[in-house]
Amino acid sequence: MLTLEQLTDFCQKHEIPAFRAKQIAHAIYQEGVESFDDITTIPKPLKKLLSENLQISTVTPTAQEMSGDGSTLKILFKLPDDNTIEGVLMQFKDGRRTVCISSEVGCPLKCKFCASGTLTFKRSLTWEEMADQVIFFSRYLRRQKAEVNHVVYMGIGEPFRNYDNLMKSLKVLMDPEYIGLGARKITVSTAGMVEKIRQFADEPFQVNLALSLHAPTQELRQEIMPIALRYKLDDLMDAIRYYVDKTKRRISFEYVMLRGINDTEKCAKQLAKLVKGMLCHVNLIPYNATDIPGIEGSEKATIKRFQEILEEAGIPATTRVSLGQDISAACGQLANKAQKPFATKK
Ligand code: SAH
Repeated sequence: MLTLEQLTDFCQKHEIPAFRAKQIAHAIYQEGVESFDDITTIPKPLKKLLSENLQISTVTPTAQEMSGDGSTLKILFKLPDDNTIEGVLMQFKDGRRTVCISSEVGCPLKCKFCASGTLTFKRSLTWEEMADQVIFFSRYLRRQKAEVNHVVYMGIGEPFRNYDNLMKSLKVLMDPEYIGLGARKITVSTAGMVEKIRQFADEPFQVNLALSLHAPTQELRQEIMPIALRYKLDDLMDAIRYYVDKTKRRISFEYVMLRGINDTEKCAKQLAKLVKGMLCHVNLIPYNATDIPGIEGSEKATIKRFQEILEEAGIPATTRVSLGQDISAACGQLANKAQKPFATKK
């Protein structure tokens, strides 16, 4: 990812007229060129100079998996230091084309049920590496005359551990100069870092927030999410109330349905009580299979009953439609396993 400022600096340094920077940025972000050589508006020597000194993208697709129904494409990206991450494109029947991006190399949070936690944590991503995942998929869709219309920070990692880079990447995604996505089309998901939720509430934009709640009590939550030992449920809910008050925006609670663990009727009632009266929405997530022993998804009927209990208590609730399970590209399945070599040209 190269910003107009970076390109302008580069041009200045090499005594190239500033209008070239605009031409280059236009070619990359509005026309979607993949290499400097493909920019038709600039002279050859400049193409060479650019290729020798700058990288259009910090992420290189190296492997891919497409789901059987063609709805979901998972890409394994190589980073400049040879670490790898995954990003996913989901094309829903209703026209939503959602890109799910990673925020870290591996995840240090180690939620008991999540495959990303089985990866060794290496480092957080730069803002360029986050934005470039989206830019990659938007170029991919452009070839099919389509565009990315939603972005979710729900891939590998905890975006709030990487707050400053997260903010920079969000700005780039929303900037019409680059991707130009509306704030309301973007969702950041957190496992619940209290001080960052408050900070996020104070930001001057309308980006959606989702909280991975997954348990209605402190006791249960800390059993399945080690991060809950650090952030107590009461403090977390206070921070969420602050977010809702401050932004007047609805909070999404994510709740993955784990058989015999958090899916009882008692849990549903406790959950309803916990969130009652809040401007919120509960998204029940059917568990996507992983290799993790001892963790299984709830039965369909259990999920249905759980949802009914919430609804009877006046809590808006839905059950997530999950795509890409057959290629391990669904929530909690990202573990850098995409296999097929990525074909560079259409
Ligand atoms: N660290 C952030 C961003 C990751 S979002 C967060 O926790 O919110 C990924 C979402 O998928 C989280 O809600 C996570 O708890 C959920 N998830 C993890 N493993 C899953 C699985 N196997 N099936 C379904 N959802 C899962």
